[in-house]
Amino acid sequence: MCIVTNKAITVDVVIFGGGIAGLWILRSLRIKGYTALLLESKHLGGGQTMASQGVLHGGLKYALNGKLGESSEALRDMPGRWKACLEGVGEIDLTRVRVRSDHQVLWSEGKVASRITSFFATKALAGRIEKPGSLPPALDHPAFKGAVYRLEESVIDVPDLVRVLAEPVMDAIAHYTQLTFSGDGVVVDGVQVQAGRIVFAAGEGNEALMAAAGAPGFPKMQARPLHQVMVAHPELPPFHAVCMGAGTRPVLVTTTHENAAGSPVWYLGGHLAETGVTRNAADQVLHAQAELRRLMPWISLEGARWRTLEINRAEPATPDGEKPAGAYCRAFERFIVCWPTKLVMAPLLGEEVLRLMPPPTGARPVLDLDFPRPVMAEPAWGDL
Ligand SMILES: Cc1cc2nc3c(=O)[nH]c(=O)nc-3n(C[C@H](O)[C@H](O)[C@H](O)COP(=O)(O)OP(=O)(O)OC[C@H]3O[C@@H](n4cnc5c(N)ncnc54)[C@H](O)[C@@H]3O)c2cc1C
Repeated sequence: MCIVTNKAITVDVVIFGGGIAGLWILRSLRIKGYTALLLESKHLGGGQTMASQGVLHGGLKYALNGKLGESSEALRDMPGRWKACLEGVGEIDLTRVRVRSDHQVLWSEGKVASRITSFFATKALAGRIEKPGSLPPALDHPAFKGAVYRLEESVIDVPDLVRVLAEPVMDAIAHYTQLTFSGDGVVVDGVQVQAGRIVFAAGEGNEALMAAAGAPGFPKMQARPLHQVMVAHPELPPFHAVCMGAGTRPVLVTTTHENAAGSPVWYLGGHLAETGVTRNAADQVLHAQAELRRLMPWISLEGARWRTLEINRAEPATPDGEKPAGAYCRAFERFIVCWPTKLVMAPLLGEEVLRLMPPPTGARPVLDLDFPRPVMAEPAWGDL
């Protein structure tokens, strides 16, 4: 919603980036009565958001070293907060977002089963994890000798999420190509947009935006690459799972989606994707095939179609280059810079941006925006 006057618009806030961060912030601001304009330079959801696995983490993945550290504690309340939204009683109505699975399984290879069994018996994890009533179909085979636990972390459909967040506020979302920063706002495609605050929620794009805006004190960004793998086969059972090996990082994170023809696709991340950044696409596929054969030799992948996706995680820089513990949101003069660091942290960003905003001006919006609308990105497995 914006005030439009002869190629000049006045809003309380301009948001850059139509991924989960920008969309969640836009919805949060609108609920509180702010006039806001979200500017997207490519496709809605087209960065990390559409590449994400859609897991609503509660932090246990980061506790596999046996300690509930800062990262796992920061995530602890997030599944409950999302559950409320998915059930229509939370801050944003997400009842039309499909829940692909209401839980994940955490499983191990046979040889490390006893180590994870003793870890999950610790007091710190009491009540957060339990043995499942039955094995998931992908592990239900006599040759499987590992341990399996049920993790109360849902997996949601990310394309649905982007659509459901964007649709009710498309009047405030614009696609642009040309940008310059001016004294009290920005000029986009020849239109002067005056804004009390400017939010950078453009993922990896924040770096260039900060450089162009040039305000002092902006943070440094880091990009941590991943090389994800997709495999499509009509016989693949639904499998939403974190596989632990001997180390403290998951060997493999599997989520299940569908291609445009409705055939199942396993989307593979974890250690495979982290170490895969040194492999080219063909080698990464060979590596993934060998890993699946080693972990689940009973799953038939004959005739499967494979694809990889190289994508960066964009975050504020940390001294050791590791993942920051929580969401990042800071004000620099009239700018607010955000990185959720996980999709599941978006509600915290919405809250933080509201905390940093002056009260809404109360200006009555005119719904007559002259910009084109951005289209929604497709998931990378859509045509696999
Ligand atoms: C492979 C992978 C799997 C993941 N899985 C999970 C998971 O299961 N659960 C979880 O919680 N998190 C997960 N994450 C992390 C999560 O996806 C990200 O933290 C989150 O999506 C970041 O959202 P964002 O909106 O900040 O950035 P993005 O999703 O990258 O969105 C940025 C948007 O800004 C736009 N943009 C860029 N530059 C400009 C510009 N100059 N002007 C305007 N717009 C611009 C882009 O086109 C894009 O639409 C995963 C990440 C990856 C890479």
